[in-house]
Amino acid sequence: MANRRQFFRQVAGAAAATYLIHPSAGGEAAQTAPRRAARPIAINGRRVKTIDFHAHCAVPEAAALTKDDPPAPPGPPGSGTHPAAGLSTAVDELRLRHMDEAGIDMQVLNAGASYTVSRPIAERLGTVLNEGLVKICAAHPGRFAPLASITLQYPDLAAAQLDYAVHQLGMRGAAIRTGVNGDELSAARFDPFWAKAEETGALIFIHPGSVPELDKRLVGNGMLTNVIGFPLDTTIALSRLIFEGVLDRFPRLRVGAAHGGGFLTSYADRFDHGCVAFPENCNRTLKKHPTEYLKQMYFDSIVFTPEALRHVVAQVGASQLLLGSDYPYPWMSDADALDLVMATPMSDQDRTAILSGNAIRLLDLPRA
Ligand SMILES: [Zn+2]
Repeated sequence: MANRRQFFRQVAGAAAATYLIHPSAGGEAAQTAPRRAARPIAINGRRVKTIDFHAHCAVPEAAALTKDDPPAPPGPPGSGTHPAAGLSTAVDELRLRHMDEAGIDMQVLNAGASYTVSRPIAERLGTVLNEGLVKICAAHPGRFAPLASITLQYPDLAAAQLDYAVHQLGMRGAAIRTGVNGDELSAARFDPFWAKAEETGALIFIHPGSVPELDKRLVGNGMLTNVIGFPLDTTIALSRLIFEGVLDRFPRLRVGAAHGGGFLTSYADRFDHGCVAFPENCNRTLKKHPTEYLKQMYFDSIVFTPEALRHVVAQVGASQLLLGSDYPYPWMSDADALDLVMATPMSDQDRTAILSGNAIRLLDLPRA
């Protein structure tokens, strides 16, 4: 962690943007007190709002409903999705202090959902999670924005939950997993949900999880179930939306993806060549080249190094990127996530878009 931060300091020092590096908001820093005061982020002297698009939280009222089947993530220990020491899924003063110290103005919160509960529980769970999350956000004006929780195993209910979240609760996006109990998101049975997502204009953030079929080959040293499994899971889900025609059926759909879109954004051009080189393996004609569908997708910045982020920006454009940290899971602290965007060579305009401009546009958030 120290090496990564030192590296950011060097790169940021050479960058055109005027930027002050601040102390880590990570686990080790959580133990020291007192903390430094909130520090606004500026680019060339201009205050820039910062929005962490990828943050997790829990809604306490949902715990009783899901005590045998908690909303995911967080996952079980060992999956790499348990909070860092000193951090938690609570939306509390400690979280706000970490945000203040890191220079994060706002987090977009994802409370997860359960895909295995019964229909009556799912109906109640959606209401409790979404109304609870709106209440949490309202208690801290300007600091948090909610993504709706959706029980996608019941697609008609999922569509109704999204409609309620958008039209009654004022939410502008929702979070779902990469699949539902073995069914791909491209399965026709989810079309009612995608239709509602397109109709409402809600941004649908797709987050990976453990997949037994993938995990079989990944258990062992190195937490490969997460290191490889999660980005592969995301890659498969996004690819299915493209190649099975979901994005042709719903051309105005807007999809968000965790962890820089997994491997898709690192090797996107290969997707354009499969059906050209081997047409006998393609049974569906897409309306566009596969990489053109990336313009309907938005990717968080959790790719760890300026070179990786530079590549994703070059591949999909800064208009498709959103600052993300995975708080409270210790992949990147809020401070590290911010440092990464500040240290990556790009124009001030692109940096501002990634720090908040894109999130403001997509989720209709306040500019100030
Ligand atoms: Zn996450």
